[in-house]
Amino acid sequence: MASLHMARSDPDSFDFSTPLLIAGGGLAGLYCALKLAPLPVTVITDAPLGDGASSTWAQGGIAAALSEGDDWQDHLADTILAGAGLVDPKAASVVVREARQAIEDLLHYGVPFDKDLEGALTFSREAAHSSARIVHVAGDRAGQAIMQALIASVHQTPSITVVERLKVESLITRGRQVVGLEARPHSGRASETVRFACEALILTTGGIGGLYAVTTNPPQAVGAGLALAARAGAVLSDCEFVQFHPTALNIGKDPAPLATEALRGHGAILVDASGQRLMEGQHADLDLAPRDIVARVVHRACQSGKGAFLDARKALGDTFPEAFPTVFQACLEAGLDPRQEVIPVAPAAHYHMGGILTDLRGRTSLDGLWAAGEVAATGMHGANRLASNSLLEAVVLAGRIAEDVRQIKPSIHQEPVRFSQSGYHSLSHNPDHAAFFQLRRIMAEHMGVERHENGLREALIALTRLETASFTTAFRNMALTALMMTAMAFLRRESRGSHQRLDYPACDTQARHSMMTLRDMRALVADMTG
Ligand SMILES: Cc1cc2nc3c(=O)[nH]c(=O)nc-3n(C[C@H](O)[C@H](O)[C@H](O)COP(=O)(O)OP(=O)(O)OC[C@H]3O[C@@H](n4cnc5c(N)ncnc54)[C@H](O)[C@@H]3O)c2cc1C
Repeated sequence: MASLHMARSDPDSFDFSTPLLIAGGGLAGLYCALKLAPLPVTVITDAPLGDGASSTWAQGGIAAALSEGDDWQDHLADTILAGAGLVDPKAASVVVREARQAIEDLLHYGVPFDKDLEGALTFSREAAHSSARIVHVAGDRAGQAIMQALIASVHQTPSITVVERLKVESLITRGRQVVGLEARPHSGRASETVRFACEALILTTGGIGGLYAVTTNPPQAVGAGLALAARAGAVLSDCEFVQFHPTALNIGKDPAPLATEALRGHGAILVDASGQRLMEGQHADLDLAPRDIVARVVHRACQSGKGAFLDARKALGDTFPEAFPTVFQACLEAGLDPRQEVIPVAPAAHYHMGGILTDLRGRTSLDGLWAAGEVAATGMHGANRLASNSLLEAVVLAGRIAEDVRQIKPSIHQEPVRFSQSGYHSLSHNPDHAAFFQLRRIMAEHMGVERHENGLREALIALTRLETASFTTAFRNMALTALMMTAMAFLRRESRGSHQRLDYPACDTQARHSMMTLRDMRALVADMTG
């Protein structure tokens, strides 16, 4: 058994060599590893498997046009409409068409999707979907059930090696070829790093919500993958587009528990403190309007002091605990009984439409590097993701990557690497607490639901200072991802979908995807600071 603390005298040498490496143990990472079997693959994750992944926290489920009368073209049309003119129709049509296969595969891995008495899948409805097409598990427990099933399958698959509590901090390149990565067993400065060589690296490190003061994401979702790829020279795309979920529970918890959109699908309504409906006169679909629109209304209600609340008393009443056990539990823990009281809500950073630019095989702009799940940008979500399309995209793209890697690396057949897990410590996710607090405040203030050039300029300068002054790689990665996002938001001088500029309210000038490299971002900031 190899030890993680091998002596390394040559800085170009590697501690471990494994042909296929996956960074990230959420839905995209685990599904990809399973689809690669029996090829040996090593999955590295900075938390115990299942923890640290947004996938486990997903409540609603997976969008798939499988119910009677529904079809993939309607799903595609809804996706395109929600994406505010920026959905790549090719990407979206591939993903929605492959939904059936994705659901069948997940059933095969043991995911217990809810079914009726005759054994047919049942579907719920979510905002901006024209049909009930969300497959779900036990009301609001889809993510947990999907991950439990996949983790069990991973444990039964001998070709998969999982290394937990190892934080990836940088990629190792030769020219434009990614040849490995460097990771740290814990985030303290003094700990040593380990270097892995690989032939194919698949990044599935998830989203960026943790960069914001109010988020529904787990603390591990701080956009590390974007920084890793950007430093290695990859092109990032659409990073200005952050989806704010309109109904996070506003109960002072970090991360903020989510009140799933399915509650509104079941008839719950948004009201202010005086009981006035918030969505009346705002959109024809009222409480089931697209997320960006509802998030803005909720944001303004919170800012104005009117407050925003979800009222499920009439729509759900006594059925609440059984229909939405996770939300019910979170309410009870906050001393609220949603059967009898309204639930205070606020928008929270929830999902990143942008990420590392990939094609429909998950290939990035660098050789040897693939990306899938929330860290990637296929263009499918445009400026605003349609609810429950992200788990679907994670599965479809992860499966496509496995196919692609298999085709170009048909000869990989060797014993998996074995690691000694001894000597690992729990990870601290806030290595520099004050700087981390400051970064989250900057993002909340200037990169939130509504943005303005002055604030974005201020944020770029402050984030650059934070990045330069910080002493841990993990934090520099967070600052870099925040900078890439803010730079793209600065350059998008229009309002589109989730990106709302108070100084450019019209949506008609930049119907194209943003693309940026690290060098472009540095040039922009240099220009700004003279
Ligand atoms: C509360 C909540 C509810 C949601 N509900 C739904 C829903 O109902 N339907 C839907 O479609 N989508 C939903 N989403 C979005 C969806 O869950 C995510 O987009 C999706 O799960 C992302 O999967 P992923 O595999 O890309 O990333 P994740 O599941 O987030 O996994 C990322 C993995 O990378 C690891 N990692 C991160 N950084 C590093 C590093 N530096 N080194 C090593 N490992 C690292 C993490 O520990 C984790 O294992 C929800 C999200 C949240 C937060």
